Amino acid sequence: MKRVYFTRPLPESVADMARAYFDVEMRTENTPLKIGQMRAALNLYDGVLMMFGDTFSVEVFREAQNPRCKVLANYGVGINHIDLQAARSAGVMVTNVPGAVTDATADIGMTLIMMSARRAGEGERMVRAGEWPGWNPTQLLGTHVTGKTVGIIGMGRIGSAIAQRCHFGFDMKVLYWSRSEKDFAYPAERVRTLEELMARADFAVVAVPASAETHHLINDDALSHMAPTAHLINVARGDIVDEAALIRALKDRRIAGAGLDVYEHEPTVPNALKAMENAVLLPHMGTSTLEVREKMGRIAVENLQKALNGETPPNLVN
Ligand code: NAP
Repeated sequence: MKRVYFTRPLPESVADMARAYFDVEMRTENTPLKIGQMRAALNLYDGVLMMFGDTFSVEVFREAQNPRCKVLANYGVGINHIDLQAARSAGVMVTNVPGAVTDATADIGMTLIMMSARRAGEGERMVRAGEWPGWNPTQLLGTHVTGKTVGIIGMGRIGSAIAQRCHFGFDMKVLYWSRSEKDFAYPAERVRTLEELMARADFAVVAVPASAETHHLINDDALSHMAPTAHLINVARGDIVDEAALIRALKDRRIAGAGLDVYEHEPTVPNALKAMENAVLLPHMGTSTLEVREKMGRIAVENLQKALNGETPPNLVN
């Protein structure tokens, strides 16, 4: 039986499914693997089910010449923590789990839009602190979402699932900025520049993958085009947004609010952000429903199974 390593504890149903095919070792800690642990995993197992936080950088593969491990099955869609080229050179396939995460992450995007617009975090804190004086007509006045304009940065699976929710659920105008033109069953206008999107959107939603090209895409300059009534939402990866620039924009009230699921240096969240009432801060929970985490597991195990059976895995990315 092939030996497979899970780098974190996964739902039992996923582990049970994998045990039907492999000799599974499931780590009990929930911390990211250190470099030595990643090197050891490459040498000791035929396949590794790994995830966000396990940074398989070029250094990890440096001493791995044709390691025992033939496949890294990433438990997630974002793969910016894996050096795909180095993996390929070492003879290691990399797979991910697209599709499984789309709706859940889009739902968190909508949660952040609604919470930021309606000041829901602020309201909840007020109630819990026992500081709610009772209803009054000018209390916690937020921004109406229905009929507003959403601007999607990266109109892929998650971006278009958010756009669809905005159009059909909230009668919103949809703008998008992406590398290619898309065709949808609802009106969606492709804008030529990021600046135009930032200027016209009431809610600018980051849904582009992290890469060298998108690092700090949302910087001082991009933020400077937003209206003071607009909100920035990020459900993709933290380093796409220059966090220091965002903090400046929020502090100076150059934008109305931000809704974040991801951070530049996770799990560290700057104190400046934590102190701001106009920032909604979620702990990277885009895919965190039991059903979705089980589905991600099933797809990752299927990728492992195909790859270790000498077949091309369905979600090969390198
Ligand atoms: P996707 O389907 O590949 O969509 C990405 C979109 O971004 C595509 O439309 C692509 O444009 C566009 N794009 C890529 N690079 C670009 C660039 N340099 N400039 C402009 N547009 C660019 O990916 P997805 O499944 O929607 O996932 C997006 C990201 O969300 C993932 O990479 C992951 O990091 C993140 N994510 C976060 C969570 C969470 O828990 N918060 C959960 C899942 C995923 P074209 O279509 O024109 O090529």
